Amino acid sequence: MVGSKEKSKEKRDKRLQEISLLRTIPYSDHQRWWTSETVAVVTGANRGIGFEMVRQLAGHGLTVILTSRDENVGVEAAKVLQEGGFNVDFHRLDILDSSSIQDFCKWIKEKYGFIDINNAGVNYNVGSDNSVEFSHMVISTNYYGTKNIIKAMIPLMRHASQGARIVNKLENEAVRAKLIDVDSLTEEMVDKTVSEFLKQVEEGTWESGGWPHSFTDYSVSKMAVNAYTRVLAKELSERPEGEKIYANCFCPGWVKTAMTGYAGNISAEDGADTGVWLALLPDQAITGKFFAERREINF
Ligand code: NAP
Repeated sequence: MVGSKEKSKEKRDKRLQEISLLRTIPYSDHQRWWTSETVAVVTGANRGIGFEMVRQLAGHGLTVILTSRDENVGVEAAKVLQEGGFNVDFHRLDILDSSSIQDFCKWIKEKYGFIDINNAGVNYNVGSDNSVEFSHMVISTNYYGTKNIIKAMIPLMRHASQGARIVNKLENEAVRAKLIDVDSLTEEMVDKTVSEFLKQVEEGTWESGGWPHSFTDYSVSKMAVNAYTRVLAKELSERPEGEKIYANCFCPGWVKTAMTGYAGNISAEDGADTGVWLALLPDQAITGKFFAERREINF
């Protein structure tokens, strides 16, 4: 009789085989649709998964704009990659500051078209802490900041035959249960859900509100990004052929970055992998989906 350990090893091996097959897409020459003129924008890219996404996208031959809210730190991060021969440009971008978003879009408009957005994020709970002290900041950055930069950039996205792409990073697990049916989901419903959470935090009633039990504010923010990605994907899919934009999100796993106090179980390099893959997939019919390890996760 096959024991449960053998069964899970078998399952893991099968999955690793699938992943190594998936890794050949889209990187073989005949599937490569992008050129050095293809421009990707990565937010929150001075460190962590964002920095890795810049490095990997530039490594695949794209032009990548590394953005950071701190000019000096961002310039230094970009310099590391430029000195390594990567085609990386820098511009300051704070996704919480509308004038910074405007400046950035103006600069992009004058200098580039672009294809990809990746999101910055904050989390103030590490380990088993679950304070909601910074809920406003967490929801503002992770949800509203992400939404604002996406909205500002959509009009600037190039209409390529392969479609432009938006990739958001988020958390899975407890968040999934909160997601609602995409057919009836609207942006207003997502806004209302996060407002309700923030109201309960202010009133001190959130603990009995049925929200995720750990990393509560962070999980709510990522639930909102996930739901918004689906709403957005649905809206964008109604665009005519040749003007398509595909929007997806992914969970990078538990990654060794500042956000986890470097306590994750995978490197930033591995964490960035699924996002880069999603951004570069050829002929994307994939939109409004949530991925982990290059596999679609269904809710
Ligand atoms: P990280 O190393 O802490 O990086 C976060 C980045 O976001 C930093 O560059 C930070 O800039 C930037 N940022 C924060 N607020 C910003 C703002 N208002 N405007 C522009 N940039 C801002 O964390 P990470 O692990 O790479 O996380 C990146 C993303 O992956 C986040 O969305 C996170 O929620 C998501 N994620 C991470 C994990 C994980 O295990 N690490 C798991 C699931 C999802 P500063 O340096 O200026 O603070």
